[in-house]
Amino acid sequence: MTVVIVGGGHAGGQSAASLRQEGYEGEVILVADEPHIPYQRPPLSKQYLSGEYGLERVYLRPARFYEDKEIAVHKGVRVLEIDPNARTLECSNGETLAYDKLLLATGSRPRKLVTAGDDLSGVHYLRTIADVDAIRDDLQPRRRIAIVGGGYIGLEVAAVAVEMGLAVTVLEMEDRILGRVTTPEMSAFYHDLHTAKGVVIRTGLRAESFAGVDGRLKQVVCAGGDIVEADLAVVGIGIVPNVELAAAAGLDCDNGIVVDGTTRTKDPHIHAVGDCTNHPNPVLGRRLRLESVPNAMEQSRVAAANLAGGDKVYATVPWFWSDQYDLKLQMVGFSAGADGQVTRGDPSSQQFATFHLSGDTVIAADAVNSAREFMAARQLVGKKVDVGSLGDPGVDLRVVLQAAS
Ligand code: FAD
Repeated sequence: MTVVIVGGGHAGGQSAASLRQEGYEGEVILVADEPHIPYQRPPLSKQYLSGEYGLERVYLRPARFYEDKEIAVHKGVRVLEIDPNARTLECSNGETLAYDKLLLATGSRPRKLVTAGDDLSGVHYLRTIADVDAIRDDLQPRRRIAIVGGGYIGLEVAAVAVEMGLAVTVLEMEDRILGRVTTPEMSAFYHDLHTAKGVVIRTGLRAESFAGVDGRLKQVVCAGGDIVEADLAVVGIGIVPNVELAAAAGLDCDNGIVVDGTTRTKDPHIHAVGDCTNHPNPVLGRRLRLESVPNAMEQSRVAAANLAGGDKVYATVPWFWSDQYDLKLQMVGFSAGADGQVTRGDPSSQQFATFHLSGDTVIAADAVNSAREFMAARQLVGKKVDVGSLGDPGVDLRVVLQAAS
């Protein structure tokens, strides 16, 4: 039996490790188009960007792990085509690989702002180690950085850049930052946090094009004619799932590679995991495409168990985190659809948790520097609670948990 994994991100790396943990003894080949062993992306916009972490802390596991576990990692090799009938892969190095089972972990890529000046030096995206190496060369104190997009990645870069002494402007076309992913209250909290650190946040402003001199960025030109002077720009306006390889092989794709709860595509020999999948969530009762490490990890564990002969179903409430300055934000569930909320702790202390409710059922929570509350929140989602006790920091969360139904 040979399992071939395509993609060396969090999902690909975790799948390979989990296959061995599940006792799978056949051949495991991981094909990664980047010139690295599998690595994690979260530090890229945080500790790796700031210089706090070196590459060895970005890699998921040391190179020795793959040797010890007899996992063959083909670095810098791209899978160009799948032949699902012959069960073979054509690779960019001219090799043809045969598989019994194929696991697609092709992830996603940044959505591009295709516009005038997008090829100027100083215009960056942030997805890979190579991207960050290029940004770091440009990230010099006293330079002006324009960040296009006030989502998590943009704001994490803003936090690192302002602490390094750059003049930071965040351009967000919506009327609030983090509008796609969190509540107006949490957006306001992060807006105030960044502003207090010296970041200029301009909402309702759409970056339209880039202008430069001698091939080097000088300005971001916004809709309506506003100009933001900038020595460099980082564009973080969302991602696009990498589905082309799967689609060309005849697999169903619809905002992600369509898989079932066991991570199988419509081809019983091909599974898919991570950012590239559109998968059902039985807890939420709908299909999702998620862009998060917990999803990549957990879905990969399920895939590995099933490739090793099991029959697991992926069913967890989605969660996510973001680190900005010394604040850790952890979120679980989706707050859209909530008709009430209660907060434990005081936002002005920068340590609090907001629970989002539908009636007296917890449907989501956002916790800032509150790991204990977050752990409780993960268990409370989907349960009815005594709302008064939940909002009262004087009542032990264990009591709230025990009483939840
Ligand atoms: P990816 O990490 O995208 O990996 C897929 C890999 O497959 C890529 O290397 C790609 O080049 C490769 N590939 C694609 N096609 C082929 C092919 N044909 N042949 C060979 N290789 C191929 N999530 C959180 O939960 N918390 C965070 O704080 C957080 N911070 C983030 C910060 C940044 C800067 C970024 C970019 C993401 C962050 N995320 C965070 C999201 C998280 O990193 C992703 O959800 C996760 O990386 C998904 O893993 P993946 O393996 O599915 O995809």
